[in-house]
Amino acid sequence: MSTQLPSRTDVLIVGAGPCGLTTALSLQKHGCTDILVVDSHAAGDNTSRAIAVHAATLEAIDEFIPAQRIVDAGVKATEGRMWDGYRFQPWANFGALEGYTKFPFILFVPQHVTERVLGDVVKEQGIRVVRPAKVVDLVPNEQDPDVTNAIFEDGQVVQARYIVGADGTKSTVRSIAGISYLDPDGDDIADATLGVVADVTLNYAPSAPTEPLMVLASGAFSLCLPLPASSYAGRTVWRIAAGLPAGATPPHAPPTAYLQGLLDAYGPGALPPRARGSTQRLAITDTLWASRFVMASAAAATPFARLRGAGGVLLLVGDAAHRHPPTGGQGMNLGLRDAAFLGPVLAAHVRASATARGAQGVPRAQLDRGLADWAAARHARALKVIRTTKAMLARSSWKDELVWYWGVVPVNWVRVRNFGMWVLGVTGITARVVPWDLSGLKGR
Ligand SMILES: Cc1cc2nc3c(=O)[nH]c(=O)nc-3n(C[C@H](O)[C@H](O)[C@H](O)COP(=O)(O)OP(=O)(O)OC[C@H]3O[C@@H](n4cnc5c(N)ncnc54)[C@H](O)[C@@H]3O)c2cc1C
Repeated sequence: MSTQLPSRTDVLIVGAGPCGLTTALSLQKHGCTDILVVDSHAAGDNTSRAIAVHAATLEAIDEFIPAQRIVDAGVKATEGRMWDGYRFQPWANFGALEGYTKFPFILFVPQHVTERVLGDVVKEQGIRVVRPAKVVDLVPNEQDPDVTNAIFEDGQVVQARYIVGADGTKSTVRSIAGISYLDPDGDDIADATLGVVADVTLNYAPSAPTEPLMVLASGAFSLCLPLPASSYAGRTVWRIAAGLPAGATPPHAPPTAYLQGLLDAYGPGALPPRARGSTQRLAITDTLWASRFVMASAAAATPFARLRGAGGVLLLVGDAAHRHPPTGGQGMNLGLRDAAFLGPVLAAHVRASATARGAQGVPRAQLDRGLADWAAARHARALKVIRTTKAMLARSSWKDELVWYWGVVPVNWVRVRNFGMWVLGVTGITARVVPWDLSGLKGR
């Protein structure tokens, strides 16, 4: 059934996922109120997907909505444990951020809960969200070169001065704009490793209720993270995530037996009983949600362009602009900060363009400078996060085996990595430095 759309708007946001909603909230806070958000799905995706929210993201969001509403829905963790195959190593101590941020912790909150909080605020602020409404084409408006006609699946047309593509990895906006979306290192998606994520209940807690546990196994790794009880009607639920050995092909919706196998082989089940603190097998008692995912990386060549080089403004935020492995829990965070930082810049452009339409001779390049600077900064940030998360993925997946160099020099890279982590741990670097990187406070 068709949903009636308005015939025009200043800003059309394509995608009502976390990054689209955040763009709308940031724009409105900075004085741009003529906003329309559309989404092809009738309702939001009610699955937990990204669960880590970092301090820099909460700070960015706190500029326009009380981030405490998201914090209240999650689990705050400062400490964690990491098993390197032989012993526990120190984990990043997010408590070290105390005094530098209002949010000195890593927050675990399922994505559908974050989206629900953002959606509630969008509704309270009276921002228009229309679902289902799928954008299928973008064409220049014949009367005004700064306007784009967004064509919807049912034939409706919305004229917009600005189009923000918050429409995920398969972004229609990005494809129509002809913006490439490639791995910066030239890696092929066909070679990408697969991972599995699931929300499960367990027969006993593998860690303290606010303490994540990471296990580095040979050629694979896993994480067990505590979820807030409120996300599953008061139940004690754990997120398990695993990076699998190269070549493994997990099913699309892995069943409990498959997940149990991962837990036993690469998870806390693989730890000796003394390290696990129990001789009892750690068993999954219920699977609430499970999915596999591709750990591929890509960045849009630019998150800012003009349609066909000379038309209306097109912008990309979130997964439409970048994707990368989930190591370090960076994915949604990077996108939410793209959106939060776009708000003031785009709102200023909307105001300046309205003034310029009354005056003559304001060159476009001058008008667009703020957007170009935002785009350059976000693109550089995306490349940095892609490189970091890929490096973390590679180091977490090394095989515990001897590699012979020149036929005479044996190296076990897992032992080298573990020794390096031990040095970083005893010198306090892991505790003090790593949280700055992961939280986004060092580079937003
Ligand atoms: C199975 C799975 C597991 C994941 N696990 C993790 C994890 O553990 N950690 C992590 O950091 N990240 C994870 N992610 C990634 C995380 O979910 C994304 O980074 C996040 O959703 C990005 O938000 P977004 O708003 O950019 O895009 P999305 O959430 O993808 O939202 C895009 C929206 O655009 C809409 N849309 C698309 N095309 C159109 C169109 N043509 N017209 C109108 N609307 C359109 C879609 O319906 C959708 O609602 C996972 C993703 C998946 C799928």
